[in-house]
Amino acid sequence: MTTAVSVPALAYSQELDKPLLVLSVKDAQDPALEAKLDRYLNLEFREPDAAATLLQDIISSLHSNTPIESYVRAQTYLVLAKLFSRDSAAQAEATQLLDELLTLTHSPLTANALVEIQALKLQTLLSQSKLNEAYLQAEAVNELLADASNPRVLYWAHGMLGNLARTDGQFEQALQHYSSAMDALLHLNDERLLLRRSSLNWQTALVYTELKNWSQARPLLEGLIEEVKKHGQDDYLGDLYLALGYVLSMQKDYQAAGKINQQGHDLARARNQQSLALTFINNQASILIEQQRYAEAKAMLEAALLEAEELNEPNTYQIMRLNLGYIRVMQGDTAAGLAQMEAAYAYYEEFGVKSELDGHLEWLAKAYRAAGDYLQLADTLQKQMALREELFSENREKRINDLQSRYDMKSQAQRITILQQQNELQEELIRNKQLQQQITLLFIILMGLAAIMLVQLYRKVRRSNLRLREMNKQLEYQSLRDPLTGLFNRRAMQEKMAKRHQETQPARCALLLLDIDFFKHINDHYGHAAGDAVLIEISKRLQTLCLESELLIRWGGEEFLIVLQRPEQADIDQLCATLLHKVSELPVLFEGKEIPVTISGGFINLPFAQVPEHQFNWERVLQVADMALYLSKVNGRNQINLVTGLLAPFSEAEPHLQSDLSGAIRENMIELHTIAG
Ligand code: GH3
Ligand code: MG
Ligand code: MG
Repeated sequence: MTTAVSVPALAYSQELDKPLLVLSVKDAQDPALEAKLDRYLNLEFREPDAAATLLQDIISSLHSNTPIESYVRAQTYLVLAKLFSRDSAAQAEATQLLDELLTLTHSPLTANALVEIQALKLQTLLSQSKLNEAYLQAEAVNELLADASNPRVLYWAHGMLGNLARTDGQFEQALQHYSSAMDALLHLNDERLLLRRSSLNWQTALVYTELKNWSQARPLLEGLIEEVKKHGQDDYLGDLYLALGYVLSMQKDYQAAGKINQQGHDLARARNQQSLALTFINNQASILIEQQRYAEAKAMLEAALLEAEELNEPNTYQIMRLNLGYIRVMQGDTAAGLAQMEAAYAYYEEFGVKSELDGHLEWLAKAYRAAGDYLQLADTLQKQMALREELFSENREKRINDLQSRYDMKSQAQRITILQQQNELQEELIRNKQLQQQITLLFIILMGLAAIMLVQLYRKVRRSNLRLREMNKQLEYQSLRDPLTGLFNRRAMQEKMAKRHQETQPARCALLLLDIDFFKHINDHYGHAAGDAVLIEISKRLQTLCLESELLIRWGGEEFLIVLQRPEQADIDQLCATLLHKVSELPVLFEGKEIPVTISGGFINLPFAQVPEHQFNWERVLQVADMALYLSKVNGRNQINLVTGLLAPFSEAEPHLQSDLSGAIRENMIELHTIAG
């Protein structure tokens, strides 16, 4: 027969749910503050006003150095107090406070503090009936729990997760959470431990009942009743008796069930809970009906029916009517009995909870079978099937919808995360690009600067190279020049002759050695500077007479050597005449004084008279020219003597050519003529 089990009125109530004392005090906790918070919890249970004052005290004592776990715990209690007050302004404050706590997650937190904050968020969502968000939050809390160690927090969070799983029909999960919460309780020790354990056992027993696991539910409930009795918490006894009576009757242990129902009934009466007492009577009668003790059941129900009518308890009244109708059918008053049952059923169909209809239909069907009304029986069974189908599909639809919306929420949350990540990535990319641009710009600037520096460096190097080349040139020039006249010096002659020596067939040339006459006198008479001026001027005059291919050398103090490049002897003779003329034509002017100058010279060809140069080299040839010059001096100066050929074999003439030109002339060995100025 229908047995009423009230919806868990004792369900994890907020008072029970709140965290309690911690045993181990770590750095993250302030022992004095923790003790105060424990005191608050106990006070809150018994003296709400004093508790509120204490909490206010605690909150105002918090400061920036309060250890984090104690800080979070105190704030959590404040949020919970505001959340469960009936004042909507306070509830809004709770949400705001929670938001502030959630921002704490960015600072270094202990796992315990973090879990407590996230569990608080879960509790807030549950209290706001935001189930879908709560499911998501539950997953987050569940993941974090692995790192938490504070038993108070573990108990609280697991308890909440268990309740949530139970609401969701995930009984196995719920049991697991309750069991973890129970494990956490082992580490807690305070005056509310029993209460908390009772609460957990009650939740667990309800899950077993929902799972129709009677053998597990029964000892839990029995134990609970013992504990509650022992600690005088009579408030919960009624619910516990009702649940145990139900479980026992489902186990068909009618005797025990009857005893429990009786105790429940008596207790309800003692506490003046008449409606509850009527429920016990109905359940008691149901057990009698199960045992076919119709007369006893009838007597019991009829008395109770009157009371239900008086109390204006239509639900209880109608269920009793249904049961009484059934008894009438079973006792042979078929038509009236069935009519009564149908009327009661009609009431439930109109006002009752759909899920309860199934049980009623079952009894109606039993009645029709007993009455032999198979048509109605078939109809009822069909109704029952339709109802089950409807319930099932409704249930299924609801679960699918729940799942769907939870999935949607999850995927939306993931989408948001993905979008955030995408945004972050995008920002990172943009930052990266900007950085790259900056680097590129810097690189370009650097390259530009480097290029400018390189160009400057290159120019500097080029300039310095040019200067170097210039200096080298000057050095070379200076090394080959005479500083006073700017003419080539002896070194230049040696170089030229060395080059000539390397040539396989050196071109014919001629050497004209010149010496200024009475130069010593010029120096002595006009001064050394005048002598220098004469040297410079004569150099210029000689230079004008030389071809570009010809080399004019200052050979000694006032001696000059010209390497002539004129193949024709006539041209040479002409040059000698012109030269003598040009030197002496005009006096050299120096400081207003006119200095008359003449010059003498000796000439010879190179090679001399076809004698190969390795046999008679330029230095020896020049000695002959020097002797010819000497001859010019001796013969009166201002003239040039030219040795132009050999009249005797070289071997014969050679000894004279060494030092005795006059001898050679006398012996008629050489060809010689004189050009006078
Ligand atoms: P000759 O007609 O026989 O050549 O007689 P000379 O006086 O010209 O010959 P000498 O060799 O006796 O004198 C040459 C002088 O030239 C001697 C020297 O002091 C002078 N002398 C040599 N080099 C320089 C010079 O660079 N500047 C000046 N002012 N005098 C120089
Ligand atoms: Mg001289
Ligand atoms: Mg001289």
